[in-house]
Parts: sequence; structure tokens; C-alpha cells
Amino acid sequence: MSTVRTIAALREALLPSRRAGRTIGLVPTMGSLHDGHLSLLAAARAACDIVVVSLFVNPRQFDDAADLAAYPRDEARDAQVAADAGADLLFAPAAGELYPAAFATTVSVRGVAEPLEGAHRGAAHFDGVATVVTKLLNAAGPDVAYFGAKDAQQVAVVRRLVTDLAIPVRIEAVATVRESDGLALSSRNARLVPGDRQRAPAVHAALTAAQAAVDAGEREPAAVVAAGRAAMAGLDVEPEYLALVDPTTFAPVAALEGEILAVVAATVGGVRLIDNRTLKRESMTHAANDAQEQDPPRHGDRLRPALRRFDHRRPRAPGGG
Ligand code: AMP
Repeated sequence: MSTVRTIAALREALLPSRRAGRTIGLVPTMGSLHDGHLSLLAAARAACDIVVVSLFVNPRQFDDAADLAAYPRDEARDAQVAADAGADLLFAPAAGELYPAAFATTVSVRGVAEPLEGAHRGAAHFDGVATVVTKLLNAAGPDVAYFGAKDAQQVAVVRRLVTDLAIPVRIEAVATVRESDGLALSSRNARLVPGDRQRAPAVHAALTAAQAAVDAGEREPAAVVAAGRAAMAGLDVEPEYLALVDPTTFAPVAALEGEILAVVAATVGGVRLIDNRTLKRESMTHAANDAQEQDPPRHGDRLRPALRRFDHRRPRAPGGG
């Protein structure tokens, strides 16, 4: 795996592959790579001829300057992890490469970017995500770009902008990788002190309880949400939001019809956690999807070797992504 730092070098490195008709996959990350990122990398490796990992802590998507300053950066470790996972190229630009002095453009997605994460973190967050993702897609020109389903609203925002701006790329959402107790992997989890770590599965428990309520025949969205909130309260966690939304628009649903996403955010011990789950109404008719939901990739299942040798150096992350 080689590392490039400029858009010109990235394009030059990819040109022979592009001319030869090889498929290019892009995995955008902010580094501090964990098994969740490696799941994206594995998906790209399985489907594409050339796998590019980008490593850029995007200042524009942080809503807290202190978070940005403290965000863990260990390029050498991330480069080794990405190489071990089979990446071909690491794109690690300096901030000035993506945002030169005269930079004056913001990609701002309306609608889907506005509620929930957009409301709680402020509009600048998804503006920052949309702008950097647009730039990365233009720089790398991948056939496929991989994003984590854990950040479901981010995926929906990216799908919206790719459609609206006619960017020729396929967006793949990769299933969330979890700890054995259901907590979605995140670089933020390292900041949870032991007592808070025990409460953190509350966000996942809310989603499980919401599905259980549906399975038990509940059809009122408010009652399904109440079941989720009760599960969280049992672990002494108050949600920032817990909602049932349309997975494309992220508008709240008025009835349990069609595809529905349960989304949740909570701050536990100062660490902000988010998660989501597609709610299934007739599990028998969705057997394939259910198998995926019931048996999601677990931390360590198959991705562990690439990380094991670096575990002693795994950084503590304040979050922000
Ligand atoms: P980040 O470095 O936090 O910006 O994340 C880079 C990508 O990894 C994003 O598309 C995230 O959604 C994805 N990701 C983060 N955590 C997980 C996880 N636990 N499972 C799957 N994908 C994840």
C-alpha cells in the first residue's frame, strides 16, 4: 500500500487502473481505525479491484473545537492497519489540500440533513460531511464508496447529494459492527469509564425493545418509542432522541407502514452515542434481512487479525465524527 497526500497524486496513482477498467472502491475515514472501519474495507476488498482508504479528520464536521483538537491521530498505526486489511492506496491529505485558503464552497443538503443529528449537532455538521464527501468523491472518482450503516442519517445525506449532484458513484452501506453486548463500535467508546461502559448498551437495548414491541403486535409509533425509552431508563440513560423515521427522508413516521428506521442518540458519561435499526413487522417475510439483523458482524469475528498487533496503541477518542 502506498500513501498519497495530494489530489493530483491520488488521481495519478489511480489513472492506470481507471484506464484498465478496474473498479475502484473508496472507504472514507477519519482514522483511529477499528473493526467497524475494517468491515467497510473488507466489503470494498471483496467487491473492487482497487481499494482506496482516505484518512482525514475533517475540521468542518466538528461542532466542538475541543473535540477536534483532541481527536486521536496516529497515521502510522492507521496506515499499517489499512495495509494489513488489504488496502491498495491511502489518501492522507493535509487540511490545506482539501481546504486551500481561497476555499469558498459548502455543499448543504436540505431536508434529510435537518432533523435529529442535524438539529442536535447543528447544520454545520452535515454541511461539513457533505462538503468533504463531495470533494473526496471528486478527487478519487470511485465506482463504489462505502459508509457505515451505524451513521444512517449520514448515509442518507450522502445518497441525497450523490443523486442531486449526479455524482457517478454507487453508495454502499455496510452493517454495523458491535461489541458482544450490542454496543456499536465507535472510536468514542474508548472514553467510556467502566460504569458508563455498562450503561452504554442502553442505546442498542432501546432498539431491541422497540423491535420486541412491534413483534408483540404494537402498531402505535408512540408506544413503540415508549418501550424503547423504558429499556433505556432501566439502564439509567435518557435519550437525546429516540424516533421512528422514514429511512430516506428521516421524517418521523405517523404509522408503522413501509420501511421504518428506529434511530437513537444518547450521551453517556459525556460520550455521545448513536445507533439505529430497521424495524421489521413480519419477520417471516423478511427472513434474509432478519438473519443479517440477528447475526450482525461482531467485534473480533473476522476482522481482528489486522488490528490485534496494534491494540496496545489504540488511542482514546473524544469523538466528533
Ligand atoms: P469515521 O472514521 O468515524 O468518520 O467513520 C468512517 C466510516 O466508518 C463511516 O462511514 C462510519 O459510519 C463507519 N463506521 C464507524 N463505526 C462503525 C461500526 N461500528 N460499524 C460499521 N461501520 C462503522
